[in-house]
Amino acid sequence: MPSLLFEMGAPGRGSRFVADAGGAKKYLPADLLRSELPIPDLAEIEVARHFMDLSGRNFSVDRNFYPLGSCTMKYNPKLNEAAAGFPGFTDLHPFAPDDGAQGALQLLWDMERTLSALFGMAEFSLMPAAGAHGEITAMLMAKKHFAAIGQGSRNVCLVPDTAHGTNPASAAMVGYRVVSIPSTSRGRTDVGALRSRLDGSTAVCMMTNPNTLGLFEDDIIEITQAVHDAGGLMYYDGANANAIVGLTRPGDMGFDLLHLNLHKTFSVPHGGGGPGSGPVGASAALAKYLPKPIVVRAADKSFALDWRRPDSIGPVREFWSHFLAIVRAYAYVIVHGEEGLRRNSLLAVLNANYVRAKIKDMLTVPYDDFCRHEFVCSAETLKKETGVRALDLAKGLLDAGVHAPTMYWPHVVPECLMIEPTETETKETLDAFAETLRALVKQSHDDPASMAELPLHTPVRRVDEAQVGRQANKGIGLRWEPPPNERAR
Ligand SMILES: *Cc1c(COP(=O)(O)O)cnc(C)c1O
Repeated sequence: MPSLLFEMGAPGRGSRFVADAGGAKKYLPADLLRSELPIPDLAEIEVARHFMDLSGRNFSVDRNFYPLGSCTMKYNPKLNEAAAGFPGFTDLHPFAPDDGAQGALQLLWDMERTLSALFGMAEFSLMPAAGAHGEITAMLMAKKHFAAIGQGSRNVCLVPDTAHGTNPASAAMVGYRVVSIPSTSRGRTDVGALRSRLDGSTAVCMMTNPNTLGLFEDDIIEITQAVHDAGGLMYYDGANANAIVGLTRPGDMGFDLLHLNLHKTFSVPHGGGGPGSGPVGASAALAKYLPKPIVVRAADKSFALDWRRPDSIGPVREFWSHFLAIVRAYAYVIVHGEEGLRRNSLLAVLNANYVRAKIKDMLTVPYDDFCRHEFVCSAETLKKETGVRALDLAKGLLDAGVHAPTMYWPHVVPECLMIEPTETETKETLDAFAETLRALVKQSHDDPASMAELPLHTPVRRVDEAQVGRQANKGIGLRWEPPPNERAR
C-alpha cells in the first residue's frame, strides 16, 4: 500500500470537490502561477484514510507508556484542552485592550503569583516559549545584571557534566565560557571541584536539582553559598520539577533565577503535541530584569500589562506568547490544588523508585540510591556478557508498545537508559514494563543475535544509523523523489 500522498491519486479525482480550481487563476498574479506542480490529485476518501492511517502509527502518551527520562511525558488531562478551547480565550484578539481582556489577564496574574509561591521566587515572566528559550532569557538577565553593577567582565558559566545540553548551549549563546564540573561517584556535583573553579570571572552556575541522574544534590545549600560568596548567580534548570513541586523550593535552596517547562511538569502536551511554555522566575534582586510586559493588579483589583519596567531585557516573544499553553497549565494547577500537586510529586518519586527496585537485578543501577522522579540504569554489564546494547533493549521495548527511555545520556553513565515513569501510571503498567524488560534481558542471554533484528512490529524497522551518520553532512535525503521512470512527467 502506498504510504505517501505523492504515490496515490489519479488525474481528475479531486476535481469533484473543488468546482473550479482553474478559476482561481484569474485572481493570482501571472508571475506567481506555475504551469506544473507535482501535487497529487486525490479523492477525499483517500485523504481521510491516509491521515487516519498515519495517526494510528503515531506514538503518543494517550496510547502507550512513555518513560522518557528528563522529558516528563506525563498524561495531558483532557480537561486542560477543554479550558484552552473556551471561546473567551481562543477568540481573544492579540491587540485587545486591557479592559477588554480582564479574565485572561487575571489568569496570567494568578498563574504568575502561583508559580512564584510554589518555587520561592519574587516574580515570574510567562513569556518564554520553551525551556531553552527560558534559559537564554535568564542568561540575558544575568548579563544585564552584571553590566549594571559594573562587573560585566564576569564571563564564566559553570555547568555540571550531567547537565542537559541546552544549559551549556544557552550560556555559550550569550557569550559565556562554559566550564564543566565533574560529578562524584555518588552521582552528585563535586563541591570541591566546583569551589576550585570559583573566582572573579564566575558569572553563573547552572544546576538541575534533582540532577539528570534523578538524584537530589544534598550539598545544594553549600553550593549556592559558595557561588554567592564568589559573586556569582545560581540558575536552576526546572524543566523537570516533577519531584519537587509542593515539597521544596529552589528559592529556599538559594537560587536566583530559574526556568520551568509547563510542557513537562505542568501537563501541557509537547513533543509534536503543541507549543510549550518556559516561564522564568527571579529573586527580588533580579526581578526588574524580567522580560516585559508583566501583568499587574491595580489597587482597584483590575489587571493590566505593565510596560513601565525600565531595567527589563525587553519582550522575548510577541503578544502574550503561548497563552493557551499557560491556560492548560493553569487548569492543571487549579484542578489539583497545592495538596494535589504535592501528591503528584510524591507519586512520581514513588513510581520511579518502584521501577528502580524492580529492575535493579537485571540491569545495573550505577547510583543505587533513593531516586526522585527518574533514575538511570546501565546495560554495560549486559553488553560485556552478550554484546547486546542499551539501544537494542530500547528497540525491543518499541515492539512491546513502550516508548524507548532516554538513551546514552547523561554521558557519565555508559550504555545508559534514563527512566521516568511519571505519577499517573498504574502499578499494572509499571509491572508490565519491568516484565517486558526482564524478557528482553533474558532474550539477550539466550539469543543475542536476535536482539539486533528488533523492532519487528513497528511501521519502520531498525534504521541504519551508521549510514545516516555517514550521510549526515551530505544531507540525509528525506525529501520524496518521483520514481526514475516518472521523472520526465
Ligand atoms: C527539556 C529540558 C530542557 C529544554 O526544554 P525545551 O522546552 O525542550 O527547550 C532543559 N533542561 C532540561 C533538564 C530538560 O529536560
